Amino acid sequence: DEKQDEGGYFNSYNDLSVHQLMLKDRPRTLAYRRFFETHRDIVKDKVVLDVGAGTGILSLFAAVAGARKVYAVEASAVASLCREIVAENGLDGTIQVIHSPVEEVELPTQVDLIVSEWMGFYLLHESMLDSVIAARDKFLRPGGLMVPAHARIYMAPVDMTEHFQDRSDEWSNIYGFDFSPVASAINRNEVVQPLVESLSPDKLRAEPRELLSIDLGTVTVEEVRKFTNSLEFHIPFETKIHGFACWFDVDFRVKMPEAENISDNLTNRPSCKLMNETGDAKCESLSSTGSQQHTSTNNSTKQPEETVSLRTGPNDPPTHWKQTVIFLPQTMAVAAETSLACRVKMSQDVSGNKRQYNITVALTDGADDEDEEGDMMMMER
Ligand code: SAH
Repeated sequence: DEKQDEGGYFNSYNDLSVHQLMLKDRPRTLAYRRFFETHRDIVKDKVVLDVGAGTGILSLFAAVAGARKVYAVEASAVASLCREIVAENGLDGTIQVIHSPVEEVELPTQVDLIVSEWMGFYLLHESMLDSVIAARDKFLRPGGLMVPAHARIYMAPVDMTEHFQDRSDEWSNIYGFDFSPVASAINRNEVVQPLVESLSPDKLRAEPRELLSIDLGTVTVEEVRKFTNSLEFHIPFETKIHGFACWFDVDFRVKMPEAENISDNLTNRPSCKLMNETGDAKCESLSSTGSQQHTSTNNSTKQPEETVSLRTGPNDPPTHWKQTVIFLPQTMAVAAETSLACRVKMSQDVSGNKRQYNITVALTDGADDEDEEGDMMMMER
């Protein structure tokens, strides 16, 4: 039942190895630290709410950056460790640890800033965002700041030939016996259950497209419960396509309306490099380095705006989120210069585990591109 499910979810965060994994994820943790270090002026003397404080690392960053008060709300039993850590570091005068689901908390005041690390695989897995939205609607003062402020999911078709080859090799000789039916069974299961893996960038076969973009200041629970989007990919080289990889970026952006448009050009671009077998690169918008700590300082307005981003794509420094691959039931052979249109639907599994999403990718005809040279063919794996 629901209560028990939630117990199971919070219990999973009693496992300290999960917290260790997150703390050791440097691109993740340093992005938050960098935000607090570079925005002391905004954080100073402010009241902060940390939704899902875990071991308290984000609350510690906020306190050190000068917050007047930090409410560190944590539902799992890790809250007591968080309390010890806070005291150990002499910050118990500033940080108040509250052991409770944020939905059941009452605070004496509204807060100026909400920080949370709520992101799951492909951004939305775990649906912790719902809790962050609830906290925002209940506690954030008008004009208050969400940290991070913006999130986007990206998607790109992938060639996973190597992945299937490795698996087939692995099961082809088990103590001298051919176990290839196991490889086939795992392949079939993978169509139902996505793969979480750090992909080398060369597996991407088209420029990534944005599947979803949300503003944490305004997004509603309904908007992320279920959504559909049509994407069109241009496949430059002949290739096999086995599925689609998803990943996300978040921006720790401070809204300064006059700087908004200019900075969009700098931050909205996923990093990607497409190569054919001979190593020729084709790319529409090859971004500089795919740096995780992407910081763009905008000097063209009076007040400089600094955007800190956390990026989790194949071209970025690896994080514990890796990328998520959604497999097609069949392999697609695609000719060079093909346009690949698809309709992607993500919906919270409301009937089962609401912390999971059902993701479907349907290939569509891209009807209006009759002069397309490209061609594709479906085949068994
Ligand atoms: N902020 C920590 C932990 C992030 S993991 C860090 O950055 O390292 C997310 C944490 O949120 C987990 O510890 C989980 O138990 C907690 N959490 C998830 N949903 C919550 C809710 N509704 N109320 C309070 N805590 C929640």
